[in-house]
Amino acid sequence: MPEFDLVVRNGKVATDFDVMECDVGVRDGKVAALAKDLGRGQEELDATGQLVLPGGVDSHCHIEQLSSSGVMGADDFYTGTVSAAFGGTTTVIPFAAQHRGQSLRAVVEDYHERARPKAVVDYAFHLIISDPTETVMTKELPGLIREGCTSFKVYTTSDRLKLDDFEMLEVLAVARREGALVMVHAENHDIIRWLSSRLLEGGYRAPRYLAVSHARLAESEAIHRAIRLSELIDVPLLIVHVSSVEGLDEIRRAQARGTKIYAETCTQYLFLTAEDLDLEGSRGAMFCCSPPPRDKAAQKALWQGLKDRTVQVFSSDHAPYPYDASGKLASGPDPSFEEIASGVPGLEVRMPLLFSEGVRTGRLDLSEFVALTATNAAKIYGLYPRKGTIAVGSDADLAIWDQEKEIVVCAEMLHDKVGYTPYENRKVTGWPTTVLSRGRIVVQEGELRAERGTGEFLPRAKPEAAKPAGRRVPEMDPARNFGAKLL
Ligand code: MN
Repeated sequence: MPEFDLVVRNGKVATDFDVMECDVGVRDGKVAALAKDLGRGQEELDATGQLVLPGGVDSHCHIEQLSSSGVMGADDFYTGTVSAAFGGTTTVIPFAAQHRGQSLRAVVEDYHERARPKAVVDYAFHLIISDPTETVMTKELPGLIREGCTSFKVYTTSDRLKLDDFEMLEVLAVARREGALVMVHAENHDIIRWLSSRLLEGGYRAPRYLAVSHARLAESEAIHRAIRLSELIDVPLLIVHVSSVEGLDEIRRAQARGTKIYAETCTQYLFLTAEDLDLEGSRGAMFCCSPPPRDKAAQKALWQGLKDRTVQVFSSDHAPYPYDASGKLASGPDPSFEEIASGVPGLEVRMPLLFSEGVRTGRLDLSEFVALTATNAAKIYGLYPRKGTIAVGSDADLAIWDQEKEIVVCAEMLHDKVGYTPYENRKVTGWPTTVLSRGRIVVQEGELRAERGTGEFLPRAKPEAAKPAGRRVPEMDPARNFGAKLL
């Protein structure tokens, strides 16, 4: 009788704090032992010379989501999670997106229905709140938080999604009361609107003007304001997809004064620049996302931010809009920059790109890589230690990496349904070859082995990260404010 269901032999096992050579014994989908020369497994995988890393947690991706302008992404929960798995990611946290007028509860039920029969790796949901009605705020949201959707995103821009400052404060207050974490897409809506209208009046319609309209100042101003609103309530906040030097500086300053501000950046901000949008005709649309990629200086600052821990989370912001009338060009073959479906794909290449350009070059060590791609997101969003690490008792979500494998990225090799990749022809070194989710082999030596619907929904704990810093906020001091209990 074998002692384990599965043993991964002789790999170099890395967590966010340690690297050691040992076997990983798996029983009932969980890591049961970590040591050299473990007993026999029903199944055995030889990882000699390879890395055994925690499966990635991609905490910002859009799967089977209808955009606010009515465009459905190309990836459903099957192709999205298959693509994730082939890139070493075993947990995805996409968004259950409320559009105005919708019941938040109905939205979440709908996403459950979509995901359950299709996902091949485990998933959780963040919520997107675009319509904070009384019912949503007092009933639906607290209920959904208790059911494990413990984080939600709000927008300061985008016509059909943005909240005003008053609504933001209401959302932050609910998050504080319920112990949930707020994520914010922070760009100043009116700066973008004003610049866009001037550009369009002048006849500047090409995709590359998106990067002009979404000024760096629009980002840093909105980050600053969102942080100040969160400080008023003394509630943590996570700034998604930070793209600019100026935005990063705001975050650094806030962290230095003791606030609990977390930050995320994404593949496109490390690997693309605004110059990539400058292509013939509408082709630059393939690189349009908001905020847009910036310049080499921003890339350098963001690498530094990952290294010095100003930025804790590295995600894909996978937004699967094909370069055709079903996606990027939904409003016509020659759209102005503001009519282009916004977002770029990247679920599968997220970890390999960071590994190749981060670990292989020496910018990041292996533990930092693991922290940025898996552990930190699991901790911040309430999935740790079940996900994001390799420890006894954790889910056996493992990615076995061939660190010497050389790959030239191209759209044909990827498993999403987007049909293009912004990283076409990039050479990367290092790729996960075998990927396990709860001890099940999902990908083995480049072959898919998992069945549809074998991924599970992950109800999340109230994130430790969402706990207020406990700072005294003078404006909210009941003694100064006539004894009013404001929260
Ligand atoms: Mn996004």
